[in-house]
Amino acid sequence: MDKKKCTAIVLSAGQGKRMGTAIQKQYIELSGKPIIFYTLDAFQKSAIIDDIVLVVGEGQENWVRDEIIEKYQLTKVRSIIPGGKERYDSVWAGLRGLHALKEQPEYVFIHDGARMFVDEQILTRGYENVEKFGVAGMPSKDTVKLVDEDQFAVNTPPRKLIWAVQTPQIFKADLIENAYAKLMEEVPDNITDDAMVVEQMMKVPVKLYEGSYENIKITTPEDLEIAKVFLAKRKEKYHK
Ligand code: C5P
Repeated sequence: MDKKKCTAIVLSAGQGKRMGTAIQKQYIELSGKPIIFYTLDAFQKSAIIDDIVLVVGEGQENWVRDEIIEKYQLTKVRSIIPGGKERYDSVWAGLRGLHALKEQPEYVFIHDGARMFVDEQILTRGYENVEKFGVAGMPSKDTVKLVDEDQFAVNTPPRKLIWAVQTPQIFKADLIENAYAKLMEEVPDNITDDAMVVEQMMKVPVKLYEGSYENIKITTPEDLEIAKVFLAKRKEKYHK
């Protein structure tokens, strides 16, 4: 099978309010490098990914270009574009940014910049399964309850059917572009991932493929402690 062109849209325009730091979480340094560097480097080194569109906070484009992309020679980053208020605004900006590429991708990998432990195994599984499967995730280790506004449990779905969704979320380019174009004609509400846009707008079933329990989204301060442990483990593995 011919290798299909794959473009990653990496999202780095969030405010990271749950981290409680002045600096946005994706720019916090671990082992001397910003979190977003580790994320981008996984795509940079990947044999699957051809190029990257990076979505950043409005007004941060030049700083990111100088201090991250050029400094660490992340040559697959073709454009750095401003995102929007909500995650879906940033994804939409990234999708529109694809049109400036010389060659349009067959597959688009949408990825949270804060998931710095994405690796080649996850990208490979995603690429191999993209015709049928779209979204990285893992079975939930916890029992999950649906609660009402007053925090009373309403429903407890069977745990074996609950998966925690991750990224990359991978789609054929025309499918995800059409889904988002349709979404943006409406007033989007409660849109927290890309699969739900495809499910709801296109009525196309989306199947999950296995991500990894290490593919965490750095969100709250304790995630930084976990990330330090994972990074140290990686260093040991590659520098033996
Ligand atoms: O808010 P959440 O943790 O779900 O964000 C997931 C990813 O989406 C993060 O990497 C964040 O930087 C990005 N994001 C974005 N634009 C927004 C909100 C989030 O690029 N408006």
